[in-house]
Amino acid sequence: MEVTEVLQERTGAPAEGVWSAPGRVNLIGEHTDYNDGLCLPLALPLRTRVAASRRDDDLVVLSSAGFGRVLRCDLGQAGPGRPKGWAAYVVGVLWALRQAGHEVRGMELAFASNVPTGAGLSSSAALACAVGAAASDLFGLGLLGSDEGRAELAAACVRAENVVAGAATGGMDQTVSLRARAGHLLLLDCQDGAVEHIPAALPGHSLLVTDTRSPHQLLDGQYEARRRACEAAAAAAGVPSLRSLGPADLPSLLAAVDEVVGRRARHVVTENERVRAVVAALDTGDLAAVGACLTAGHVSLREDFEVTVPHLDVAVESALVAGALGSRVTGGGFGGSTVTLVAHDSVGAVREATERVFAAKGWDAPVFYAALPSGPAAREV
Ligand code: ADP
Ligand code: MG
Repeated sequence: MEVTEVLQERTGAPAEGVWSAPGRVNLIGEHTDYNDGLCLPLALPLRTRVAASRRDDDLVVLSSAGFGRVLRCDLGQAGPGRPKGWAAYVVGVLWALRQAGHEVRGMELAFASNVPTGAGLSSSAALACAVGAAASDLFGLGLLGSDEGRAELAAACVRAENVVAGAATGGMDQTVSLRARAGHLLLLDCQDGAVEHIPAALPGHSLLVTDTRSPHQLLDGQYEARRRACEAAAAAAGVPSLRSLGPADLPSLLAAVDEVVGRRARHVVTENERVRAVVAALDTGDLAAVGACLTAGHVSLREDFEVTVPHLDVAVESALVAGALGSRVTGGGFGGSTVTLVAHDSVGAVREATERVFAAKGWDAPVFYAALPSGPAAREV
C-alpha cells in the first residue's frame, strides 16, 4: 500500500504531503567523520518516503511498512533514550528541532523505504532526514530552502541519532542525505561541515554496491571502542583530533602509543590522504588511481582499523579477481556492504563471481545496487 493510502486510512483525511530522503554509500573516507576528517559519500537512488500531516497536539503517530503496528509517542516525553526502538530516529528529530527553538507539534506519519536496514547504506539517516524534511515544510521552518538550513536540519537529525537513539554516529550520513547533489559526490570536511560537490565523472564505469547480507551491529560497543581509541591517540599527540595529524606525524605517534591505538590512528590519518587522492584522481580522470585508493582503504580497514568481516573481505576479493578497478567495505563495517569501481562491461562478471563465491561458502546471496549519485531529501507531493 502507498504511504498516502496508509495515512488516509488511519486519519480519514489525505496526507498534507509526501517527502523522501536517500540512503547513501560512502566512496572513501571511513571512520573519519568523528575524527574531524574528510569523507566522500554520495546519495543513493534508494529512498525512505513519508506521508505526513500535522497534529495540533504533541502526539506523534507513526507506522512503517514492515515494522509492525502503529506507534504513539508523546513528543513532550521524548529525550535521551526515549522513545526506544525505531521511533527514536523519528520522534528524536522532532525533539531536537524543538530543543533548537523551533515550534514543532505532533504529526501523523507513514513511512515506506527501499533502503535496506543495517546494510551500511544508512537507512537510519534516510528515516530521520525524511521526517526532518516533512517537519521543516509542514511547520514552516524553511530549512530545506538553503544549504545553511539543510545543515541545521542535518544537525538535528544527528542529535536524534546520538542522543535519543543512542547511536554514536558522526555527521556524514545525515549531511549527504540532506545536502547531496544529483550526479555528484559530496566532499565533506567534518571539521567545519564545509561541503564541495565533486562531479561523479566515471566515463564507462559504474559504482556497484554489494550488500553482503551480514548485517552490521554498530550498537554492540565496537564502534564506541574505535572512537575511544581515536580519541586516545589524539590526546597522546596533544591535538584536538586526528585531523591535525598528517602521515609525517605517524612515526612519533606510533612510538608513543599502544600498538592497537597506533593502528587505529594510522587508518584515520592515511584515510584522509586517500580521500584527497581520490578527489585529485577524479579531477584528472585517472580511474585506475581511484580504484587503487579504494582497495588500499579496504586493506587499512581490515588490517589497521579491524572493522571488516569475512563476508566483506570475500566480496572485495572476488570483485578484484573478476576485474574491478577497486573495491572496499563502505559504512561502519562489521558487516554491511562494499562499494566497487568497475567498467560497465565487467559489472556482470563481478556480480557473477561474487554470487558464485558466496554460494560456495553457503552464505546468503548478495544483493547488488547501482550507485547512481542521486538528489537530496525533498518534497515529492
Ligand atoms: P543503517 O543506518 O546502516 O541501515 P542502523 O543500525 O544505523 O543501520 O539503522 C537501522 C535502524 O534504523 C533500524 O533497526 C530501525 O530502527 C531504523 N530504520 C531504518 N529504516 C527504517 C524504516 N524504513 N522504518 C522504520 N525504522 C527504520
Ligand atoms: Mg545508520
